[in-house]
Amino acid sequence: MPETFKALMLTQDNTGRTSAEVRQLTNDDLPAGDVLVAVDYSSLNYKDGLAITGKGKIVRTWPMVPGIDLAGSVLESDSPDYAAGDRIVLTGWSVGEKYWGGYSQRQRVQSKWLVPMPDGLDSQRAMAIGTAGFTAMLCVMTLEEAGITPDKGTVLVTGASGGVGSIAVTILAKLGYTVATVSGRPESEAYLRQLGAAEFVSREEMNQPSRPLEGQRWAGAIDTVGSTLLARVLAETSYGGCVAACGLAGGADLPTTVMPFILRNVSLRGVDSVMCPVDRRKEAWGRLVRDLPADALGEIGQTISLEELPGAAEKIVAGQIRGRVIVDLNR
Ligand code: NDP
Repeated sequence: MPETFKALMLTQDNTGRTSAEVRQLTNDDLPAGDVLVAVDYSSLNYKDGLAITGKGKIVRTWPMVPGIDLAGSVLESDSPDYAAGDRIVLTGWSVGEKYWGGYSQRQRVQSKWLVPMPDGLDSQRAMAIGTAGFTAMLCVMTLEEAGITPDKGTVLVTGASGGVGSIAVTILAKLGYTVATVSGRPESEAYLRQLGAAEFVSREEMNQPSRPLEGQRWAGAIDTVGSTLLARVLAETSYGGCVAACGLAGGADLPTTVMPFILRNVSLRGVDSVMCPVDRRKEAWGRLVRDLPADALGEIGQTISLEELPGAAEKIVAGQIRGRVIVDLNR
């Protein structure tokens, strides 16, 4: 194993400004943990964009190697659960926020954070999915558990051209749902239709403040946006429907009323991927192998190097990235 390897390092100066730089590290620089991993691929999520640009308070310890996702193989293990050569995937657990993360050719982590790479996936495909795709699957499972089956009506996906949105649209379409999408980018319509969307609604229309109840349009929804847009989605959700909310790309507020909940029996279910229990993680990854068509990720994903991350981070925060960005640590 070569002595040094490269990693993207974030530092903060005394004015609070975040800087990102690719540095050479050795194993001695890595934090404590019971497993040393060779990282093949990582990915860029909205949260990573906020961390790298410093536009969101994501990083809690400095300096930080960001990257909330990683996939690769075990190099050394003090855990009975993993041996050298095992292929693994890691998402969440505050990695890339509080603990050093995936933007490093090598990382030392805790074995309890790992999921064995599911059969049928490799590191590159797992990172084309990443936290965004994993969260999309958790949202789909949440709708299923609320009884939202394909025969109930149309399911809406907001922030549809983003990472969570693109994969949610693809899974729902594969499962036989009629999928409607909300996007602020009219040029994404052809892309979203290719992923399986049947209906395209403009963000401008959905961002109009709503009355407490509007006409019933959606059997369910996966929301990555929050704020006024989520309030409208709730007001337009049909009797007995469910909205799985996982994101805040449009804002963290929610200017709604109790009306959809008490007059239409609508439920709003929160979805968190970071602290998701291990058994549910394994279930979601298994479902991703089964329910996300392998060829769809070619359309959704683009691959970049560690050096290209700062530029891509600016773009994802500005809402200019379509689909998923995969980071190849060996590029
Ligand atoms: P992306 O940046 O890839 O996608 C977000 C999408 O939201 C954009 O592509 C855009 O889609 C839309 N959007 C952006 N800005 C606005 C705005 N101001 N108003 C309305 N829509 C907007 O991010 P991800 O898919 O990685 O994440 C989406 C959200 O989900 C983020 O808030 C993220 O933090 C959250 N998240 C939460 C997780 C959890 O565990 N709860 C896990 C993963 C993500 P379009 O151009 O089509 O409108």
